[in-house]
Amino acid sequence: MSERFEHIVIGGGISGLGLAYYAARRGVPTLVLEAQGRVGGCLHSPTFPGCGDFWVEAGGHTGFNSYGHLLDILGDLGMMPRLTPKAKVSYALWRGGQRHRILSALHPLELLLSLPRLFSARARKASLSVRDYYGPGLGAKNYRDLFGPAFSAVICQPADEYPADLLFRRKPRRKEVLRAFTLPGGLGEIPLALARQPGVEVRTGQDLVGVQWDGKDFRLLLADGGELRAGTLSLATPPDVAARLLGPQALAAHPPAVPALTQEGLAAIAGIGMSEVETLVACVPAMALGHLPPTAGLIAVDDAFNAMVARDYLADPAYRGFSFHFRPGALDAAGQMDRACAALGIEPHQVAGQFPVHNRLPALRVGHGDRVARLDAALAGTRLAITGNWFQGVSIEDCLTRSQEECDRLFPTPTPDKVVAP
Ligand SMILES: Cc1cc2nc3c(=O)[nH]c(=O)nc-3n(C[C@H](O)[C@H](O)[C@H](O)COP(=O)(O)OP(=O)(O)OC[C@H]3O[C@@H](n4cnc5c(N)ncnc54)[C@H](O)[C@@H]3O)c2cc1C
Repeated sequence: MSERFEHIVIGGGISGLGLAYYAARRGVPTLVLEAQGRVGGCLHSPTFPGCGDFWVEAGGHTGFNSYGHLLDILGDLGMMPRLTPKAKVSYALWRGGQRHRILSALHPLELLLSLPRLFSARARKASLSVRDYYGPGLGAKNYRDLFGPAFSAVICQPADEYPADLLFRRKPRRKEVLRAFTLPGGLGEIPLALARQPGVEVRTGQDLVGVQWDGKDFRLLLADGGELRAGTLSLATPPDVAARLLGPQALAAHPPAVPALTQEGLAAIAGIGMSEVETLVACVPAMALGHLPPTAGLIAVDDAFNAMVARDYLADPAYRGFSFHFRPGALDAAGQMDRACAALGIEPHQVAGQFPVHNRLPALRVGHGDRVARLDAALAGTRLAITGNWFQGVSIEDCLTRSQEECDRLFPTPTPDKVVAP
């Protein structure tokens, strides 16, 4: 007989761990199953062999004082004193194989003449893509030369088709908190801390390949042939994985009156695309980079990478760190290293540590809100939750907002004798 758990979460990124934490705090012990050998997903602050505890963010790198759910969690975990300010450094533009000042790409007159269109299109923003909203509103040349590449750098994927209303979402700020922050060990500290909380058990190396319903429990099928059972199930994987796990075989197995996802709900997920990012994380002795002033990174206009994010916001006496986010398939590993070194003005042999990271982000499109509404209608009343970075948006705060909403739906009433005190 397979092991049975009250609540299982599939996916150990911030969405899954956040939901597990919220559930555990309500007295619902939760098992998190993660395919990789580590938790965190896109929150990953790796170190390099032989480079001490110097880390570089391979994915998410900045928390903001508008991240209310995140700040509440950090407060509960006693981590607020660890919030670390980020030194003010500026991005540069990378065009034609050279660094340029950001403002060198601005066409001020075009901007002035275009801005009224931005304001007049505000009411239609939810129905427009980033290109269709900001192109006319900032000017075609400004969009091509500066803002388009900058927006692509922000969301780490081509921004043109992305929904304009999901690019920047205004959230209330907590003024007493640092506006932008990291942590002494990088943001990767957050998933690690969540995974240690009472009521949360994490198993890594658990690659889920299917979900079925047996009339009473969810049956979770593992790639190694193993099986687990859960009374309540939460999916916190990218949308293509969620669609695969809940694929036709899962639906076919659902008797009508069970917490099944309807065809309609499944179709809503299945149509969401993914953007693949080939990230090269590198650590370079500071001495080798004397020629390179401290930088936030590069916004690339015409190269194989969309953006480079530097760790110069938290200076280290010995090393400097960089993450280059390449378009998939644009260059092989050696080509990526050559291009990164060219952008840094060094030779490959000067790099002290490096490795590739495969990041995946949802490629949201206009009309995404309708998909989410259809999915939510299908989930209502079931013991199945779905969270991730493909609901409100991709930020850490968007993930946690969705996770808390799904936890509220699954477990509306805390179990009084089991609630875990902060
Ligand atoms: C380069 C980059 C920079 C970013 N910068 C910022 C930033 O500065 N600030 C910010 O707020 N956000 C940032 N983001 C966005 C944010 O980091 C992510 O959207 C967020 O961390 C995603 O969390 P998640 O848990 O939803 O998904 P993920 O982190 O993708 O986690 C999903 C997890 O599910 C696991 N999984 C997948 N399939 C299976 C399976 N079959 N079985 C079991 N487990 C499975 C995966 O291994 C993964 O660990 C950035 C993202 C990237 C890539």
